[in-house]
Amino acid sequence: MALLEVIKDKCKGCGLCVEACPFEAIEILDNLAVIKESCTGCGACLDSCELEALYLPKIEKKPAVDVSAYQGVWVFIEHQDSQIAHVSLELLGKGRESADKLSTHLSAVLLGDDISPIIQQLSKFDIDRIYCIEDPVLRDYRTDSYVVAASSLVRKYRPEIILAGATTTGRDFASALATELETGLTADCTELDIDPEQGLLVQTRPAFGGNIMATILCPHHRPQMATVRPKVMEMPAIVDSNDAEIIQESLSLTEDQILTKIVDFIPSIDTVNLADAQIIVSGGRGLGGTENFGLIEELAEVLGAAVGASRAAVDAGWIPYPHQVGQTGRTVRPRIYFACGISGAIQHQAGMKTSEMIIAINKDPDAPIFDIATYGIVGDLFEIVPLLSQQFKKKLGK
Ligand SMILES: Cc1cc2nc3c(=O)[nH]c(=O)nc-3n(C[C@H](O)[C@H](O)[C@H](O)COP(=O)(O)OP(=O)(O)OC[C@H]3O[C@@H](n4cnc5c(N)ncnc54)[C@H](O)[C@@H]3O)c2cc1C
Ligand code: SF4
Ligand code: SF4
Repeated sequence: MALLEVIKDKCKGCGLCVEACPFEAIEILDNLAVIKESCTGCGACLDSCELEALYLPKIEKKPAVDVSAYQGVWVFIEHQDSQIAHVSLELLGKGRESADKLSTHLSAVLLGDDISPIIQQLSKFDIDRIYCIEDPVLRDYRTDSYVVAASSLVRKYRPEIILAGATTTGRDFASALATELETGLTADCTELDIDPEQGLLVQTRPAFGGNIMATILCPHHRPQMATVRPKVMEMPAIVDSNDAEIIQESLSLTEDQILTKIVDFIPSIDTVNLADAQIIVSGGRGLGGTENFGLIEELAEVLGAAVGASRAAVDAGWIPYPHQVGQTGRTVRPRIYFACGISGAIQHQAGMKTSEMIIAINKDPDAPIFDIATYGIVGDLFEIVPLLSQQFKKKLGK
């Protein structure tokens, strides 16, 4: 149900509120404002209605919990075919840093069946505890069984922070768990830190269509929950051997109590593997047309790189969406990222600014991409990109 309400007798369908909503959550139908499900209840539209036809009912607040009863940082370990998702390992690094700042322990939460190979992989990382539930009903990820299992652990051991990957599974799991525990969740964080005075998790993420970076705190409820996309955080160092304390719990859930059944797994055929590419050559609006992406593809082929793109290039239909890098595309962290004819808008940077080396080619010396570039080439990409391809071909003997 939408959060905002329209007082039908007052609304004249003038449409002023449509303009005021940053989430495009209002439309006019038959001279009446209609609120869509995407309404977040932010209240930004309220003052736009001169007839006071918009009304935001007060949401009853849940009483605050005793936050001092919650301790420790947990990372949800996502896995498939006995392999841990890379993002879970990345989060162990951020989790360690946060736990150290809070002088508390870092734990991995592992749910599944036949989990010893995963415990083995976790032994290479600096973790204090591993909370596990091993049960055949947890063999494959399913929202209902995983949330029952994780919430039973949370209620018993009371962590103050839970981090999960912003993957398809992690997003589903974290939002369902936060709902079950009646706590807050910040999705798709780009930065996490600990507030030194209050010891709260400082969660930063783009808001209002990426136009501002919002800092979100969860002071009154526990656990504080956040998801982070793959490749946003750095991988932690591998330790020689780690003797994490293993805490095994059981689950009293039978297959017939779970609503979801796994019928089959069909892996998606993702031919654009930006996430694992060591080198990415990306093109933007500066290319001027689909036919010119050939220049980008040629340089990428010489370097054995993947082809990326800005949203402007994708929106123009010059290249398909799986190539898009940025806030609403892929987050990447290659060793070398070439940005060709890309201005470097904040939403593009959100997906690539942690690349080890950024080489920007742009004819505008004031383009924001140069603020984050390791090397900047000011000039016409139609001259520079072919020259780079030519020179790399020579150097690499191709
Ligand atoms: C909610 C939201 C989400 C978004 N998500 C993303 C996202 O995931 N990824 C993304 O990329 N964007 C995203 N955007 C869009 C973003 O704000 C920018 O509009 C977009 O990144 C611009 O793409 P661009 O740099 O290719 O184009 P422009 O900003 O138009 O820049 C083109 C650049 O090319 C240069 N140029 C032109 N001709 C040449 C030439 N011959 N040689 C060299 N340089 C040349 C120009 O100087 C200019 O700097 C999002 C926006 C919003 C509101
Ligand atoms: S601004 Fe007020 S009167 Fe106009 S469409 Fe919106 S709710 Fe109705
Ligand atoms: S409350 Fe916010 S999201 Fe909902 S319609 Fe108004 S401006 Fe849009």
